[in-house]
Amino acid sequence: MSVGVLAGKVALVTGAGSGIGRATCRILARDGAQVIAADRNLQAAQETARELGSERSAALEVDVSSAQSVQSAVAEALGKFSKAPSIVVNSAGITRDGYLLKMPERDYDDVYGVNLKGTFLVTQAFAKAMIEQKLEQGSIVNLSSIVARMNNVGQANYAATKAGVISFTEVASKEFGKFGIRVNCILPGYIDTPMVAVVPDSVKEQVVQRCPLGRLGQPEEIAEVIAFLASPQSSYVNGAAIEVTGGLK
Ligand code: NAD
Repeated sequence: MSVGVLAGKVALVTGAGSGIGRATCRILARDGAQVIAADRNLQAAQETARELGSERSAALEVDVSSAQSVQSAVAEALGKFSKAPSIVVNSAGITRDGYLLKMPERDYDDVYGVNLKGTFLVTQAFAKAMIEQKLEQGSIVNLSSIVARMNNVGQANYAATKAGVISFTEVASKEFGKFGIRVNCILPGYIDTPMVAVVPDSVKEQVVQRCPLGRLGQPEEIAEVIAFLASPQSSYVNGAAIEVTGGLK
């Protein structure tokens, strides 16, 4: 993406304390946006913001699975850079893998609460703020996963939420188009972040063998596509689900 293309825009990124969210903050700031790094882990969000500098970035604590926390985050975000974010990236996400017959209800609920309900709560709250402030050219980018299409054994909860994110994105794109807000999602393959660090090496080796590019992805390679979707250069891309997997199917 081109440096400066996001100048004058405020972006809010959830899950900004790690992995894809942190890389996204870096790339959006590089492209000129002021970035609000939001995470349940405030210290990690602050580290992201510190790296970018206080003129370009601020940190915020939010638990995306809690409506109350998201409401407070909206109020706090509006005070950071004097206008509502016109770019929102829903990168907060968790896994609680396990075979279905042994999956505790709690693991299902937790994954649902962050990955799908969290995407809903943040999207709804910040879209309302964009509409109230009559912001033009809003862009919301959601993180689905190629697991939504691969439907891996042991990931029923995660796969279901990430498939849900694709449908949610499409509906939101239809409802928000008239407000000038585009909504898209990305389906990353296996990306070298703390989330994937816990995947057994044997599984990662299989993934690398199946991936035409023969390697895991880097978080910046997802962040670059997010930055494109956030920018006016993707002005006619809406309701899309874009695979960024190195060709892994
Ligand atoms: P990560 O574990 O490195 O980072 C996730 C971040 O989300 C952490 O900073 C964590 O504190 C934060 N978070 C978790 N629960 C939260 C909550 N309730 N409220 C606010 N923040 C919360 O993960 P990642 O690899 O960067 O993944 C980012 C997104 O991309 C996730 O939605 C994930 O499902 C998706 N994804 C990742 C991969 C991959 O291979 N890494 C592949 C496909 C999709």
